[in-house]
Amino acid sequence: MKPGAMRLADEERVCVMEGEWSSTGVIRQVVEEGQEDPFYVMDLGEIVRRYQHWKAMMPRVEPFYAVKCNDDKLLVRTLAALGTGFDCASKAEIQLVMDMGIKAERIIFANPAKMASHIRYATARGVTTMTFDSEAELHKIKQISPDARLVIRIRCDAAAAQCPLGIKFGCEPLTEAPRLLKLAAVLKLNVAGVAFHVGSGAGESAVYARGIKVARMLFDLGDTLGLDMRVVDIGGGFAGDADSDLRDVARVVNAAIEANFGEREVRVIAEPGRYFAAAAYTLATMVHATRQLTNASSESHTMYFINDGVYGSFNCVLYDHQTVVAEPLDPCDSRPEACSVWGPTCDGLDCVIASCRLPALRTGQWLVFKDMGAYTLPVASAFNGFPVPKVKTIVDKRLWAVLKELWPLNEADVTVDICPLGPQSPESLTPRSETPSPTLESPHHTV
Ligand code: PLP
Repeated sequence: MKPGAMRLADEERVCVMEGEWSSTGVIRQVVEEGQEDPFYVMDLGEIVRRYQHWKAMMPRVEPFYAVKCNDDKLLVRTLAALGTGFDCASKAEIQLVMDMGIKAERIIFANPAKMASHIRYATARGVTTMTFDSEAELHKIKQISPDARLVIRIRCDAAAAQCPLGIKFGCEPLTEAPRLLKLAAVLKLNVAGVAFHVGSGAGESAVYARGIKVARMLFDLGDTLGLDMRVVDIGGGFAGDADSDLRDVARVVNAAIEANFGEREVRVIAEPGRYFAAAAYTLATMVHATRQLTNASSESHTMYFINDGVYGSFNCVLYDHQTVVAEPLDPCDSRPEACSVWGPTCDGLDCVIASCRLPALRTGQWLVFKDMGAYTLPVASAFNGFPVPKVKTIVDKRLWAVLKELWPLNEADVTVDICPLGPQSPESLTPRSETPSPTLESPHHTV
């Protein structure tokens, strides 16, 4: 490989970008070096920008990143460096986070239906804050981890959500929750707070006010039962696309905290997944085959076959109900025409976009998909022999100088390449004003 080549990572490898660069420019360079398989470019700067925006919008709400959303170690390490906590749902997720040196106090075991062996593991490693929503779970925890700090998960559904969760988790707040809190008091368990999750990709902001109000009611009930409740966990549901805005949700959340917990000392935490993961990852895929169809009315339609599909990154189309948008990597002059985009496997289900309009593409041309970091890579498989895309992680040189000082373990865990980018067209360059300010605090949160 020639020096400065855009190598894709099997291990934790960060490419430190010098001078003027853009994610699109990096994709072009990888492609020009002869890449054939699909790949991601992940910009650590986007994660930092989103963290800073969160802190500005909701200073009272401590984010505990939901590892399930994307367990890429460099993403997790970056968030650890910034000072977030972590929502882990299994033994393996706890292990991943703790093996990076993150302390147990910064983890919530946020799965209301846990395997006994996972509770044992968590307890042995000091992770004792965990959620529950049933009587059976309370008895299980009483046996295995009697000193755990429990958070009752209530149901609180947004009017619309990409992935509703209330059908599976969360006890009814007015009927089941009071009964469970009373049982916890009788069992002398330590109930530390209330959690809810409005649904992932929530389409309603007001729902957070409803959840926070019910949490306050349950805190009042807890007081009468002698429970010492101090944690409100507002879960996930926050949008993650680059052009989404946290402002509306933040206004609702901040007002509801003030109205319901203004005079009471509580810690407010959240479990954002998609918010941190989505926008940092851009997926590049190559068109390797095309097929031209004409219907009975003589309308033509092109089928484009790309090298990643619903068994790979685009599992998000099936499981996460995402709508993905394809953009040609290179500017095309031709008019957009009716087409569909298909994955590489032999399954008819492997359809990425059933109907869209794109300029005419030839085989060997590349399509780019933005905002692809949430609920994609951890679920992807290499079915039919098509590899899961590798990730090329990039970071601006000035930001890296600051970030590496905050890195949870020493820099040696990561291979660092210095990557000057070749000459680029002016339209492919990100304005450098978007570079995060190289001053970061690291408030290490604990639950
Ligand atoms: N917390 C829990 C318990 C979840 O189940 C999920 C997603 O399923 C999340 C947090 C992350 O949600 P989101 O990606 O919508 O922020």
